[in-house]
Amino acid sequence: MISRLIFISLMFFNFSAFSAEIKALRIGQHPDKVRVVFDMNGEMDFQVRIADNPRRLVVHLPSKTWNAGGDVIFAKPFQSIDHQKTITGLTQLSLPLTSLYTVQSAFMIAGQPNRLVIDMTPVTDIEFKRQLNKIHGPLVVNSQPDVLGDLISSFNKNGDTPYPSQKPKKRIKPIIVIDAGHGGKDPGAISKGGIKEKNITLPMAKMIAKTLNQSGRYTAKLTRSDDRYIKLYNRVKIARKAKANLFISIHADSVGNSRTRGASVYTLSNTASDKQTEKMAARENQADLIGGIDLNIEDKDVSAILIDLSMRETMNQSKTLANNVVGGLRGEGVKTLKGPHRYAGFAVLKAPDVPSILIETGFVSNESQARQLLTPAHQKRIAKSLMKSLDKYFEF
Ligand code: ZN
Repeated sequence: MISRLIFISLMFFNFSAFSAEIKALRIGQHPDKVRVVFDMNGEMDFQVRIADNPRRLVVHLPSKTWNAGGDVIFAKPFQSIDHQKTITGLTQLSLPLTSLYTVQSAFMIAGQPNRLVIDMTPVTDIEFKRQLNKIHGPLVVNSQPDVLGDLISSFNKNGDTPYPSQKPKKRIKPIIVIDAGHGGKDPGAISKGGIKEKNITLPMAKMIAKTLNQSGRYTAKLTRSDDRYIKLYNRVKIARKAKANLFISIHADSVGNSRTRGASVYTLSNTASDKQTEKMAARENQADLIGGIDLNIEDKDVSAILIDLSMRETMNQSKTLANNVVGGLRGEGVKTLKGPHRYAGFAVLKAPDVPSILIETGFVSNESQARQLLTPAHQKRIAKSLMKSLDKYFEF
C-alpha cells in the first residue's frame, strides 16, 4: 500500500521544476539563538512552524529538490533532517528538536541563491506549547488534503507527512584544522633555557590531531607537520581549502614576568574583523570568500551585508567555541589565566567563514611551564580537554 502511494505521488510530481533546489543548509550557534539558513533557488514562499510528537521544526517550500546532501553539519538543537514531498506538491523538511526551541523569526533574503533564515531560541515547556504550530511565512499549506491525502494522513496523526520518514542521515565528521604556530625561520617565543615556541606547538598540534582522528568523530588536519615557515594568511587559506568547520591555532605565550603561567583562548576582536572584511572584499572575488554562498550578484551593498552577516555568524560561533574550550581546559585541571577568553586581531583568525580560535597553551617565558608543555602527558591533557569541548560544541 505504502509503496503504491509513493509511486502515485512520484507520478504527480514528475513534472515539477527540477531546477528548483535546496543547495545548502547551515546551522549556526550563537550565544542567544540558533540560526538555520537554507540556500535555495526557485520560488521564495515558505512556511515555518514548530510541531509536536515528535518535537520538530517543520518547513514547507514550493517543490524543490534536496541537494544539500552530505555537507550538513548539525548543531544543537538539531541532529538530522528529513526531506520529502507532500501530496500537494510541496517540499517538506522536518528537523527533530533535541531540546525545547521555538521560532523567533523566519525571513527570506533574495539573492543568488535565495536564503531562508530561521532564528530559533530556547524556551520553557509552557512557551513551547504556546508557540506550537504558530505559522511563520506567507506560504499556505493545504490542510484539507484530497482523497489520497486523507488515506495518507491515516498513516500519520499529524497529517502532513505523506509517507514514512527516512532514517536520519549518518552524521558527517566535522573537519578541524589544527595550526601549529610559527615554524622554520620563525621560532616564536624563546625561553631563557632555549626552548622555542615552534617546537612546543608542533608536537602539541600533532597530539591534538591524533586524539581527534582516533575518536572517529572528527577529521583533523594540520597546517604543518614539520618545522617549516608558513605565512599567516596561507594558514587561513589552508583551512578554507580544507573546507574546515573549525580552525584552531596553537601557540605558547611570553611575558616579562617569568612566573606567569596558564592557558588562554583568543577570538578575533570586532574592530579588527570589520576592517578585514573591507580589505578582503576588495582583494578577492567576493564569491570566493564565503563557502557555499554565491555572492556573484550585482548589488554590492547586498554582498557586503552578506559577508558581514557571515562574518558575524562566524565570530559568534568562535566565541561559543572559545567559551567551551575554556570550560574544557578547566575541567581537565589545566590552569588558565584570569579572564581566559580574550580578543585580539590575530591574522590567523580572519577567515570570514571558518570559526577560528587561537589557544595560548601556556607561557614559554615560564621555564617550568615551557618544559611541562613539551611533555606528552600534558599535551594529552590539553588534547583531551579540547576534544571534550568540541564534542560539546558539535553536540556529540
Ligand atoms: Zn605564538
